[in-house]
Amino acid sequence: VGLETDDPLVYRALVSPDRPAAYEVATGRSETYQTLDDAVARAAGLLARIIGRRPLSQRIAFLGRNSIDQIIACLACQRAGQVFVPLNWRLGAAELAQIIADCDPALLIHDADFSDVLAQIAEPLPRTIPVEGAEGWARMVAGSERADPVALDADKPCIMLYTSGTTGSPKGVIITRGNAFASAVNFALVGEVTSRSVSLCDLPFFHTIGLVAIGRTTLMMGGRLVISDRFVPDRTLSVLGDPDLGVTHYFAVPQMAAALRNTPTWDPSALKALQAIFIGGAPLSPALIEAFLEDGIPLVNGYGMSEAGTAIHMPLDRDAVARHPGSVGFPAPLLAVRLVGEDGQDVPDGQVGEIWVKGPSVTPGYWNKPGETARAFVGDWYRTGDLGRRDEGGVIHVPDRLKDMYISGGENVFPAEIEAVIGAHPKVRDVAVLGLPDPKWGECGVAFVVAQAESPSAEEILAHCAERLASYKRPTRIVFLDQIPRTASGKAQKHILRQTHAQS
Ligand code: ATP
Ligand code: MG
Repeated sequence: VGLETDDPLVYRALVSPDRPAAYEVATGRSETYQTLDDAVARAAGLLARIIGRRPLSQRIAFLGRNSIDQIIACLACQRAGQVFVPLNWRLGAAELAQIIADCDPALLIHDADFSDVLAQIAEPLPRTIPVEGAEGWARMVAGSERADPVALDADKPCIMLYTSGTTGSPKGVIITRGNAFASAVNFALVGEVTSRSVSLCDLPFFHTIGLVAIGRTTLMMGGRLVISDRFVPDRTLSVLGDPDLGVTHYFAVPQMAAALRNTPTWDPSALKALQAIFIGGAPLSPALIEAFLEDGIPLVNGYGMSEAGTAIHMPLDRDAVARHPGSVGFPAPLLAVRLVGEDGQDVPDGQVGEIWVKGPSVTPGYWNKPGETARAFVGDWYRTGDLGRRDEGGVIHVPDRLKDMYISGGENVFPAEIEAVIGAHPKVRDVAVLGLPDPKWGECGVAFVVAQAESPSAEEILAHCAERLASYKRPTRIVFLDQIPRTASGKAQKHILRQTHAQS
């Protein structure tokens, strides 16, 4: 009698039923593995009642902030053989309408807070159910019959995630049951997630790092998932310092880490259980790594993406963070990685090539986008569109996206490096650098700068760069903006800047 299931909770409800599984910061709600498993089984029963047991692989969209109810809905989809699609609640009605039309869900579950944005959508919506209320999803789950898990092959989808929309419109990434399992195994290995881990997630679940990585990995390993519905630096710090919770793993994008450290209540000595802050999603500046190292908290720079499973690289060994600052460490065990030059050949160590990846966490492709899927794959290899360089000791650095690199006077320039330099200027609040056509040099850097209360002059910034960057890397133009368009996880949407400023 085996379990024969990839469902993370079925196993845990058997071996550690009474251990704490999930805790909701906003409400104090707490579930054990037993009670969580029970809710998931009932939610799977409810899904079958609402949309039928067949066909399988119907999409169930969820529009809501991080919550235990969202975790239950996600795992219930897998249990019922359906596909969970967490929607980005930071989007406006028009963008949401596009994504809802694209994934064509059989059911849309939403927090009551988002009724208004849904009401602004002109197109017909699928059946919608609020989470809250007497007739709501949560109440109905409690009153439903348990359903048995649907056993399905590893190649069947269980989640669909939309990419962040950093380089264009978000794309639906199909995540199979096998992908989700392999992602969690890899993440547990590189992140050292165990049954004693307590993971705080205040990054939105709709990004790969949220639900797929932190959420599913922690639950699969039998740890405790601490769920927060928003990032408020003060609150995050008090949760991190709460001795009753003992958070060991915290996950953030670089901007969140910087915000924590700039909070007046920042006190690294209070974060006793914390092993590291796991950073990902965007290039991490050397200054930030150093600042945290001084505080005795390693920033573990993890590299990954929606399409390839969350973690492709992560510095396994905490000391590696200090020894190889800025590197994203070693490849995760289940993945094969190549660094490929323009000629399609592997580049030698020390040189920059495009990162290609292959393995069980890599998506079979994009939903509804056969052209994009075909362009993204060479056989089984997924072309990430990111640049990597292998250094001594086998660690990888990710200098930037291939699309964002530009060539000035024959030299490759990585905007992320320039952004780190300009971003360290005390009068700069935010910065993004683009390569734009230049008659003399081919392309030249333009820095878009958002000033702090006291604005620097363009000359000040140029002088700051001149002291720290080789001449071909220095931007030739500074453009001051009120704000830089960014995604929900804080990545600069350079295609928007490019569109609006290419002619100016
Ligand atoms: P879209 O694909 O819609 O343009 P996106 O690529 O930002 O959006 P995600 O899948 O959420 O969507 O993000 C993955 C990307 O984030 C990677 O391809 C890479 O460019 C960047 N990234 C992730 N981790 C790191 C890291 N540690 N260092 C540098 N860049 C990173
Ligand atoms: Mg991408």
